Amino acid sequence: MRRLQRATKRIKRTPHEVPTGRSTTGGATKDIMQHELKTLFRGSRPLKLTELRLPSALRVAVLAPHPDDFDAIAVTLRHFRDNGNRIGLAVATGGASGVEDGFRGATDDATKARLREDEQRASCRLFGLPDERLQFLRLVEGVDGHPTDAPENFAAVRDWLIAQQPDLVFLPHGNDTNDGHRRCYAFFRRAVEADKLSLVACLNRDPKTIAMRDDLICAFGADAAAWKGGLLRCHQSQHQRNLHTRGHGFDDRILNINRQFAAALGCAAAFAETFELEFVAGGVASRV
Ligand SMILES: [Zn+2]
Repeated sequence: MRRLQRATKRIKRTPHEVPTGRSTTGGATKDIMQHELKTLFRGSRPLKLTELRLPSALRVAVLAPHPDDFDAIAVTLRHFRDNGNRIGLAVATGGASGVEDGFRGATDDATKARLREDEQRASCRLFGLPDERLQFLRLVEGVDGHPTDAPENFAAVRDWLIAQQPDLVFLPHGNDTNDGHRRCYAFFRRAVEADKLSLVACLNRDPKTIAMRDDLICAFGADAAAWKGGLLRCHQSQHQRNLHTRGHGFDDRILNINRQFAAALGCAAAFAETFELEFVAGGVASRV
């Protein structure tokens, strides 16, 4: 473990990983870190997050296609926060299409997107994420409200990813019915290939995920669920919409899904967030 911590610290000082450069292969040091990361995640699946001895030097990046995707995996991220890991968050789109017309007087997309950004800021403050670690990429969206496959959108994701110098990247799984989730995953994969990045992707199960492996689970009980519910309710536009359309709040919607994940995996705890792990070495992805 100490060897990994030393390796990661050396990586941070490696000049070729400065964001101005595109060569982020990291050389021998990065190879050592990749080997150690594979060792860290070795074991029978699904692995339990709380049983892993995660070095606090690991850098965590969260690519959220929409405001609230961060909060959907908040208990996992809290584990990293409490472990002392640096966390950076990018919210890719405004998510205006998820706001009901007239919510707090908003009737146009720009106003709705601003409301959702404010909700995300409030949630991140409650979480304890420093303001400067939260970035809104404001990707160009099509008429369907999803980010277009435009070069500037890809560049925004790529530049953010390089600047983060992440060891672990969290984002929704690409096998998803949501176009925004699929596109962000596609941008992520293109970026890691283009820049030959080495990292571990933690692809989270979402209510709209079609199918994926459950390689890593973060199981949790009622106290953590109550805390997570508080974050989810910061997204009042989603909370109100869920109350109107589903008859229950946004907190219950997500926590009910977490309850289903836990039951499906036979967890002793009542709730779970789950992830498929994808190891990327020099831009090439593999399962380990
Ligand atoms: Zn989303």
